[in-house]
Amino acid sequence: MSGAESVLEADGVRRALGGAPVLDGASISIRKNRVTALLGPSGSGKSTLVRVLAGLEQIDSGEVRAGQRLLSTPSRVTPPEKRGVGVVFQDYALFPHLNARANVAFGLSKYPARQRKARANELLEMVALGHRADAFPHELSGGEQQRIALARALAPSPRAILMDEPFSNLDGELRRTTRDRAKEVLAHAEAAALIVTHDVEEAMALADELALMSQGRVIQTGAPADVYLNPVSPAAARLTGEVNIWSGSVTGGRLRTPFADLAAGGVPDGATAAALVRPEGASLVTGGDLTVISSRPFGAYARIEVAPDVGAPVWSVRAPVADAPQAGERVSMHIEPAYARVCAV
Ligand code: ADP
Ligand code: MG
Repeated sequence: MSGAESVLEADGVRRALGGAPVLDGASISIRKNRVTALLGPSGSGKSTLVRVLAGLEQIDSGEVRAGQRLLSTPSRVTPPEKRGVGVVFQDYALFPHLNARANVAFGLSKYPARQRKARANELLEMVALGHRADAFPHELSGGEQQRIALARALAPSPRAILMDEPFSNLDGELRRTTRDRAKEVLAHAEAAALIVTHDVEEAMALADELALMSQGRVIQTGAPADVYLNPVSPAAARLTGEVNIWSGSVTGGRLRTPFADLAAGGVPDGATAAALVRPEGASLVTGGDLTVISSRPFGAYARIEVAPDVGAPVWSVRAPVADAPQAGERVSMHIEPAYARVCAV
């Protein structure tokens, strides 16, 4: 999603820790008025990338910039307090001996006292906690503490705000409402935000732009629906949901799988390619060469497993419960092109 101005970016950043490469050429842009969700499995380097962007971690190669201004190179790191970057950590890191208002005012030392208080009150109102200004962190619920941490990070009007798994200490409905409120607050503040998560649903709910991280690299970036529907690799497809995968050689512009034939979409003949098909993009019709291995209802949808033969590779299909064939039936598969991609591997 280009267009919006990039306010903070990492470019080809490498960083080894404990002898192992944790960041392996990671690049990301955080844009004005956009929430970028950084989605990746545990250990993929998300927190290290946040620390690099915040100036809390050195880099071995690459650079971090704010516009034209260099913030990190292998030889020099602008310290966190001089970057104009706000950070919200997983555990919030509120000061236990300061009340909510004083926590929010903490980063405003360059303002006169009256202005500090006014700005802190403004931010408390923004996160709908004006009535809790005098409460100490231990008197606040987990969701309220999270909102105070967000208000504190936004108070000095940073160029970008970085949130590392900010909702992971909250459960269920509270997690969803806190997340939705944070999204509203960030939109109202016209912030450039990076939110780290390992939860696909959370990433999709928050993201104007979705960035996928795997093994120390950002492997795909774009609008969430586009990233979901047009994965660049099997790894990218797996990060955003369930996917059926078949690898083979392209012939005559097509990739033939035991399940269906797919247009190779520009991958040249002779190249090895992977078919990536979402379960909701496949439908089954009675009669054919495939066997239904299992068929189970999951609420409104049934999850159906089909295979060319018993013991052969299995693909998953999602179908409305009322239309689901039963185990043992013979079927053939139709694939909706929007939910299928063929990419070179
Ligand atoms: P994520 O936030 O995606 O879970 P991290 O950035 O925390 O990933 O860590 C990525 C990898 O780097 C992990 O395997 C972790 O063990 C390793 N790592 C992180 N920090 C250090 C460190 N200071 N020393 C050694 N290894 C580290
Ligand atoms: Mg982490």
